[in-house]
Amino acid sequence: MSAPVLVVGAGPTGLAMAVELARRGVAVRVVDAAEAPTSETRALGVQPRTLELFERLGLAGAAVADGVPVTEFRLFSEGVQFLDMSLRGLDTPHPYLLMLPQPRVERLLAARLAELGVRVQRPVELTGFTQRPDEVEVELRHGDGAVERARVSWLVGCDGAHSAVRRRLGVPFLGRPFEENFAVADARMDWSLPHDVFHSFLNRGRFVAYFPMPGGLHRITIAYRPGSAPTGEVTLDELQAAVDRCAPAGARVGDIREAGRFRIHQRKVARHSVGRVFLAGDAAHVHSVVGGQGMNTGIQDAFNLGWKLAAVANGRAGAGLLDSYASERSPVAHRLVRGTRRATRLTLLRAPVATAARRHLAPRITARPFVRRTLSRALTQLDVSYRDGTGGSDGRRLAVGDRFPEIGPQHPDRFTLLVFGAEPPGLRAVLGDRTDLFDIRPVTVPRAGARIGIAGDGLVLVRPDGYLALLGGGLDDLAAYLTKTFAR
Ligand SMILES: Cc1cc2nc3c(=O)[nH]c(=O)nc-3n(C[C@H](O)[C@H](O)[C@H](O)COP(=O)(O)OP(=O)(O)OC[C@H]3O[C@@H](n4cnc5c(N)ncnc54)[C@H](O)[C@@H]3O)c2cc1C
Repeated sequence: MSAPVLVVGAGPTGLAMAVELARRGVAVRVVDAAEAPTSETRALGVQPRTLELFERLGLAGAAVADGVPVTEFRLFSEGVQFLDMSLRGLDTPHPYLLMLPQPRVERLLAARLAELGVRVQRPVELTGFTQRPDEVEVELRHGDGAVERARVSWLVGCDGAHSAVRRRLGVPFLGRPFEENFAVADARMDWSLPHDVFHSFLNRGRFVAYFPMPGGLHRITIAYRPGSAPTGEVTLDELQAAVDRCAPAGARVGDIREAGRFRIHQRKVARHSVGRVFLAGDAAHVHSVVGGQGMNTGIQDAFNLGWKLAAVANGRAGAGLLDSYASERSPVAHRLVRGTRRATRLTLLRAPVATAARRHLAPRITARPFVRRTLSRALTQLDVSYRDGTGGSDGRRLAVGDRFPEIGPQHPDRFTLLVFGAEPPGLRAVLGDRTDLFDIRPVTVPRAGARIGIAGDGLVLVRPDGYLALLGGGLDDLAAYLTKTFAR
């Protein structure tokens, strides 16, 4: 067998997936059909949750140094501001959306992967595969036309919205397609608005958003209602006309660096995995750019599957652990697609009654602290949770399955076991031959426990991807979790 895991696609999802496996000692092969990484205008915002995970890879510092942190979001409807939201005060070391273009994110991940000794093989296209109970036989076409057949233990399809892996698996998309049309351009705005604030102007079915970019530029995004998008090259006239229609008054567009159009269908797959084959990133779900969630969700898919696949590939856990990838990530994708569809509908409202309601009701609703907190947690993916199969948490009370707040450093690739109070006798025996997978940390500061609702002694177990596995239980609870998770 050539390598236990084949990752198809070296976009942000595939690269993050490969890094997660390689840093746990799993031999992984990554192929991409394209000759070179994309330099196209694509995703821009790196969310706080993704930055928290980048901390584990030692990449957050470099990402932050390269990007523009945006904490303020201002939305206008027919010239009237109806939302002014700040991410300041969010319970994260990175309370901002980091504006860093996708090619730079990919470069950071690819460099980390190269440090781990893995090079992306290009152009190598997956053209087919056959799955058997104990292996997957893949067919790969190399750039020189040579066709290679290889056998791998697992195949991870990170091959984007038109995924060959998904098609070959025969996994359908769920629900009706929801089409969106965009024109995007990276350009310089001549206006008096602050650069490090996100602005979006909605006007009777029209939408222009301005994302701050490094180098004093803005990513201008225009959303069109289905059937109303122009065709051909994106021109300065088109951009200026959209800016003039939606405001702010007097703003001028200039110095266009890159521009393009794209159309997406917001959707998610019925299944994230079939046997030894997994789908991650855009291969499994496509969302609107309105929420800026696409790239981030793919990277977070990779973090969810990475530690589990590594544990199974390294013979430390049974294959049953892999089922939780689909059961945890599928509701997250479903919730995101539903949320971004709603946001898109809200931004493209056209009827005067509806837009008036948006202007008048939205400020009242979003003035409530709970609503603001819920919105900002959703925008940053800090509310993603595996607690109850809905994909999210209400943020009121911490529960097993929630993202664990950083009350102290967590281990970058092991489980972190926080022991509040005295270490229970027999702890090491319960961990047994898996002790090396756990970073055991005594916590003696009572305030730390109070913050997460632990009054006295107890165990808190945080998974390698930063989600809570155990909150305040004892040794029996830990033993039950280990049996369930690692059963071979
Ligand atoms: C034009 C455009 C603009 C976008 N703008 C935004 C935005 O503003 N904000 C936002 O959040 N998101 C945006 N997105 C979405 C965002 O880019 C994606 O969510 C993100 O790229 C998903 O990453 P991924 O790794 O899952 O897939 P991709 O980045 O699509 O990577 C898939 C990779 O798989 C490779 N591949 C495909 N088929 C095969 C095969 N058979 N064999 C081998 N390799 C294969 C491809 O070459 C590619 O490198 C945009 C997407 C597009 C296309």
